[in-house]
Amino acid sequence: MESAFTFCDELGPEKILHLYHPDETGLKAILVVDNVAMGPSIGGTRMAPDVSLEECFRLARAMTLKNAAAGLPHGGGKSVIFADPHLPLRDKENLVRGFARAIADVKDYIPGPDMGTDETCMAWMRDSIHRAVGLPREIGGIPLDEIGATGHGLVASLEAATDFSTLQLHGARIAVQGFGSVGKHAARLLAKKGAILVAASDSVGSIMNPDGIDVAALIRHKESGEPVTTFPDGKRGDGDAIIDVECEIWIPAARPDVIHAANVDRLQAKVIAQGANIPCTLEAEQILHNRGVLVLPDFIANAGGVICAAVEYHGGTESQALAIITEKIRDNTRQVLTSMRDNDCLPRTAAIAMARDRVKTAMRFRRHY
Ligand code: NAD
Repeated sequence: MESAFTFCDELGPEKILHLYHPDETGLKAILVVDNVAMGPSIGGTRMAPDVSLEECFRLARAMTLKNAAAGLPHGGGKSVIFADPHLPLRDKENLVRGFARAIADVKDYIPGPDMGTDETCMAWMRDSIHRAVGLPREIGGIPLDEIGATGHGLVASLEAATDFSTLQLHGARIAVQGFGSVGKHAARLLAKKGAILVAASDSVGSIMNPDGIDVAALIRHKESGEPVTTFPDGKRGDGDAIIDVECEIWIPAARPDVIHAANVDRLQAKVIAQGANIPCTLEAEQILHNRGVLVLPDFIANAGGVICAAVEYHGGTESQALAIITEKIRDNTRQVLTSMRDNDCLPRTAAIAMARDRVKTAMRFRRHY
């Protein structure tokens, strides 16, 4: 039992469940409910064979801070079903439904989609236990990747950042690492504001054009199943080449830890808008800060998806979700960057302090805390 308590600190985790069904499904799963002072926890259900309890806890804590920073009436949680996500559909459904029944009484956890699960899995969850977010449109869901919820939030964060740097969105050159759901919508919405996409990458490589890439054409190209490297209008490079691109805004929207001490000096942007989760190591963020580069922290700038999920849960519409994303992320970015300036600290330090303060204030209203 010792290991389950090694994560305990002033915020949580409140409970950790290990679930096992000794039947033909062989369900093995864990659920971490980190903190519910702000309301029932929302966090994804990941399906993967190899996630550690520690990783699940860290992801749950990230959701506590992200939801609090976004000002949502929700705490943070996370769950893992240990299985191959490419299982035959019927077996996957049995596992997801088995998991849902196993957590039916944990009313302070609301599952959402994550790596290895999707809106269909969430529909099975809701059918089994009447709660889940990230649902198909047909049963009241708001398709957050289709509408570009996280891209909208990144743009709102960048707009707020213009008051704290010499950045202007109109005419700004942008480079996007990872031209997927987050990256392509960020590029599309920034282009609407007059920014110029000069480079984009995916898992195959990168495409660069200092005169500007037609964003709508690149989106159509990607949607036809082609990698960015076969886009006709630009110079091809390997995936790493995106780091050296001259630009004002650099958007990581792919993998964690892509910027680290060994490559951070190659970045030439004024602002880094973190679409991906933890795309820079802490050391790299400190180096960027010392150089005067503004880093908009992931859990502030990329909270559009979870805000959208919360609006869906509370019965809101797509247009309400987009308006709330813009308002909340703009306000939060302003608050974080003001605190960064006043306290002479990293934006991430200011953001964590703001989120922790909100959670602790909410904890004081709760009897059992
Ligand atoms: P996605 O799968 O739609 O797109 C990811 C893109 O990154 C793909 O184009 C893929 O080819 C590319 N890619 C993969 N490895 C790469 C590499 N090494 N270099 C360059 N490109 C690479 O995923 P997404 O939903 O856009 O999510 C992107 C990131 O943002 C993830 O880290 C995710 O956790 C995070 N995130 C997503 C959301 C959301 O709303 N979808 C919200 C918050 C955070």
